[in-house]
Amino acid sequence: MLDLTGKNALVTGIANNRSIAWGIAQQLHAAGANLAVTYLPDEKGRFEKKVRDVVEPINPSLIVPCNVQNEGQVEETFKAVADTWGKLDILIHCLAFADKDGLGGDFSAIPRDAFSQSLEISTFSLGNMAKYAKPLMTEGGSIVTLTYLGGVKVIPNYNLMGIAKAGLEMSVRYLASELGPNNIRVNAISAGPIRTLASSAVGGILDMMRHVEEVAPLKRTVTQLEVGNTAAFLSSDLASGITGQVIYVDAGYEIMGMG
Ligand code: NAD
Repeated sequence: MLDLTGKNALVTGIANNRSIAWGIAQQLHAAGANLAVTYLPDEKGRFEKKVRDVVEPINPSLIVPCNVQNEGQVEETFKAVADTWGKLDILIHCLAFADKDGLGGDFSAIPRDAFSQSLEISTFSLGNMAKYAKPLMTEGGSIVTLTYLGGVKVIPNYNLMGIAKAGLEMSVRYLASELGPNNIRVNAISAGPIRTLASSAVGGILDMMRHVEEVAPLKRTVTQLEVGNTAAFLSSDLASGITGQVIYVDAGYEIMGMG
């Protein structure tokens, strides 16, 4: 039985009720985990309000601001977790960003600043958060991040984010190797295309979704809750032997050789 009762989970990346992180938070909650969530703070406090409204039904123990480009906020987030729970069991890294200049157009024209910003937010942040999670995962733990096929194969318009995801998937392997002796497992879920705020920035996402519906073995796309189920499984003792892996939750699209 998938049971996360008594486990403390920090979930990053909820922006609205379409966010994959929200699908994950709901399934962790349903399995009995205690939840803390972060939001990306903005000047007018709109993002915070949105996230507070969305997560209200699961009543998280903590709702904290965390822009991963701000080291102080990352540190404060884990300090708040330590003060509230004393230990952490589950970290969900479900965030990414690429400027529009990095999504579409010529790959060789990606500006230097856009490249560094995207890699800092989408890739570096996983290892950086793991650094703070490690001392709190005193009874072992599970770290799960979100990736996409565009980090392995060329997908139209995914460009810069493809580089970020390739780096992210390799980070999963290096982190799994580092943290394994502490019984901390690190895995990625490679989700099929889902309509969210982030994916709407990738040109042609709807065409990609239609293509998946035609080609994928299950003849459909996947939902946030299906990704959430896999995240809950990876976070549970049922997955105690799995680390350093990229698990595809994509209705089987990845296995197909036809374009
Ligand atoms: P989303 O827009 O709901 O979530 C993206 C999140 O990243 C937002 O909550 C945003 O606030 C956060 N974020 C951006 N910059 C940040 C920063 N500097 N600091 C902290 N947080 C920041 O979209 P989503 O599709 O749910 O994306 C979640 C993850 O899933 C991403 O890693 C994305 O690449 C991945 N993913 C999405 C799809 C898809 O089709 N939607 C497929 C595979 C993987």
